[in-house]
Amino acid sequence: MKIPSCSQCNRPAAWVRPWDKERLCVMHFNSAFLKRMQKTINKYRLLERNDIIAVGISGGKDSVVLLDALMKLQKRHETKVIAITIDEGIKGYREDGLKYAKMAAERAGVEHVIYSFEDRFGSTLDNTLTMLEQNEKRLGACSYCGIFRRKLLNEAARSVNATKLATGHNADDEAQTVLMNLFRGDILKTLRSDPVPKFKHPMFVPRIKPFRWTTEQEIVLYAHFNNLPYQEMPCPNAVEAHRGTIRDILTQYKESTPDALFSILTSADKLFDLANAVADNEISNRIIPMNPKTCVSCGDPSAKERCKACLIEEKIRSMKQIPL
Ligand code: SF4
Ligand code: ZN
Repeated sequence: MKIPSCSQCNRPAAWVRPWDKERLCVMHFNSAFLKRMQKTINKYRLLERNDIIAVGISGGKDSVVLLDALMKLQKRHETKVIAITIDEGIKGYREDGLKYAKMAAERAGVEHVIYSFEDRFGSTLDNTLTMLEQNEKRLGACSYCGIFRRKLLNEAARSVNATKLATGHNADDEAQTVLMNLFRGDILKTLRSDPVPKFKHPMFVPRIKPFRWTTEQEIVLYAHFNNLPYQEMPCPNAVEAHRGTIRDILTQYKESTPDALFSILTSADKLFDLANAVADNEISNRIIPMNPKTCVSCGDPSAKERCKACLIEEKIRSMKQIPL
C-alpha cells in the first residue's frame, strides 16, 4: 500500500489529523505541535521573560512531554525550568512513576526536586486511607490525594522561587472538566479555571496549562515520535466514575465530530470573556475572590479559616499521635 505524503513536504505522512485531514510527517507533526503550544502560551499570556517555571512531573505521558516541549520553547521565552515530583506514597505505582520522572528530568538537564506526602504530612497516601477507613467513613482516594498534591506542588514551587507552575492537563482533560461541571450544575467552577492566571495571593504560585489546546492523542504521538519513555500504568485509585462516563461520551461523539473538544473549549473561553467583561465587583468576587482568605495554620489561600489540607493533616497526626 502506498503511504500518502505529508501535506507540507514529500516525506511519508505519519499521521492524518482527524479534524482537518492534514497529513503530517514526523518533522511537520513536531513543528505543528510546538506551534500550537506556543499559540496557547501567547493567547493566554502564560509566560513572561525571566519566569521560573516549575513543571509538575509525575512520569506519565502528559508531564514527560510537557517538560520536553517546554525545554524546546524555553530559549525563546528566556525562562528557567525546574521539575517537581510529588511522591504520594502509592505502593506498586509511584515507584515506577518516579523512575520515569527522573529520566525525563535528566534528559532535559534540569534540577529535579521531589516532595513526599510522608515527609510533609506525616503519612503516605496508602497509610492515610487505611487509617481513615478504620476510624470513619472516608471520601475517595483522589479527594485526599488532590488536596495534598495541590498544596505540596504549591509549596515545592515556592521553595524553588517559581513564578509559574505548569501542569500537563490536555484538551481532553479540560473539555471533560467543563462538561463535568456543567452536568453537576456548577458552571461557576468552570469560570474559576480561567486559563489566564488571575487568582492572586502572596503564597500562591500561578498555574498554567500550556496543553489546553493539545489533544491526548497528539501527546501520545509526540512521545512516540521523540522516543520519550513514560509510565503507562494507571494509578490503582484512578476510578473517578463521573470523569470516566464523560470521557466515554466524548470518545463516542468525537467519532462523528472530531473537533468536538475544541468546540467545548471555545465555548468555555467565550464564557471567560463574558465573565471578565462584567464590571460588577460582587459578581467578579463570586468567581475569583478579590480578597482571598488565608489559612490561619499554614498561611496558604483558603476558602475557610483553615485550609482542607491542614484539617486533614491534623486528623492524621492525631491518629498517629505525631505532634504538628
Ligand atoms: Fe492521586 Fe487519584 Fe491521581 Fe491516583 S488517580 S495519583 S489517587 S489523584
Ligand atoms: Zn492550611
